[in-house]
Amino acid sequence: VNHLAADDRYDTMTYRRSGRSGLRLPAISLGLWHNFGPDRPYERQRDIVRRAFDLGVTHFDLANNYGPPPGTAEENFGRMLATDLKPYRDELVISSKAGYLMWPGPYGEWGSRKYLISSLDQSLRRMGLEYVDIFYSHRFDPDTPLEETMGALDAVVRSGKALYVGISNYNSEQTARAAAILRDLGTPLLINQPSYSMLNRWTEADGLLDTLEAAGAGCIAYSPLAQGLLTDRYLGGIPSDSRVRTSVFLNESDLDEKRMATVRGLGAIAERRGQSLAQLALAWALRDPRMTSLIIGASSVPQLEANVAALSNLDFSAEELAEIDSHLG
Ligand code: NDP
Repeated sequence: VNHLAADDRYDTMTYRRSGRSGLRLPAISLGLWHNFGPDRPYERQRDIVRRAFDLGVTHFDLANNYGPPPGTAEENFGRMLATDLKPYRDELVISSKAGYLMWPGPYGEWGSRKYLISSLDQSLRRMGLEYVDIFYSHRFDPDTPLEETMGALDAVVRSGKALYVGISNYNSEQTARAAAILRDLGTPLLINQPSYSMLNRWTEADGLLDTLEAAGAGCIAYSPLAQGLLTDRYLGGIPSDSRVRTSVFLNESDLDEKRMATVRGLGAIAERRGQSLAQLALAWALRDPRMTSLIIGASSVPQLEANVAALSNLDFSAEELAEIDSHLG
């Protein structure tokens, strides 16, 4: 083993309980959707993951299709586990998911038992793990009985391949149904993973946090920085190594004048609070205590460090919240 984790790794991180479960997650978790494929230097990936763990980020979020290309993020993370983190396995919460297109044919996406169970087996092989801590249905499948999808989640827990199960991108109504089926099966829903940020508040109108609270489940939001829009990344133009330039998931058209005016207005509020815009966006997304964790992405160690530092100022006055709302329109 050539990595010794920092002795003080639990001194400053905040942990929040996921619903009424026994599991606590770091308020900031690290996602490997981008920045962990073969297009990025492996050493930098490894530095980000090591630094995260040293800062108390115990939760790493993966999925079968992360890379690009699909599968490579799990392979790279498996390499880091083997060389650095294996001795710390019991201090880590590692998740994976299945739902989006992973392999050709009728069994390579959506929510069948056939797909979910074989995909988890593949993920475990790529990461060199015997089990994941959380296994997710990555998206609701309108054509598969929810009983089958939830039955597959229950089965992976009973077979020891996952400790807890979650759902991602399910709305309130779908969440309530999924939670009821899982409760009947005896495998409670741990968490839902929706998108959420200052620029994407669909879960509020949907009542998702109320539904999750009633179900005893937690909430872990993804893309809380709107993939980098809620940072200083694009204030002076579009850097060549940024997500807009390197990914199909964020585009130049997302940076229109109205959007950038909003971002600058929020930046002024952040400055008054002595925070960066990214830190303001993260603190704001954590303002409801039912928000268990946020999954951030980071293309560098300094980004990761700055984001974790957001946790030192999570308080908002009513006036500040109202002013933020006025910018979001
Ligand atoms: P974010 O909104 O946190 O965006 C991360 C990106 O923002 C980084 O790659 C970087 O962009 C930029 N950034 C981050 N911190 C800073 C900073 N301090 N200053 C300047 N720029 C910064 O989240 P992601 O969209 O990356 O998603 C996070 C995770 O959520 C994923 O890895 C995945 O685990 C999960 N997810 C789940 C989905 C689902 O369907 N369940 C869908 C999407 C994500 P740059 O690369 O330009 O430097």
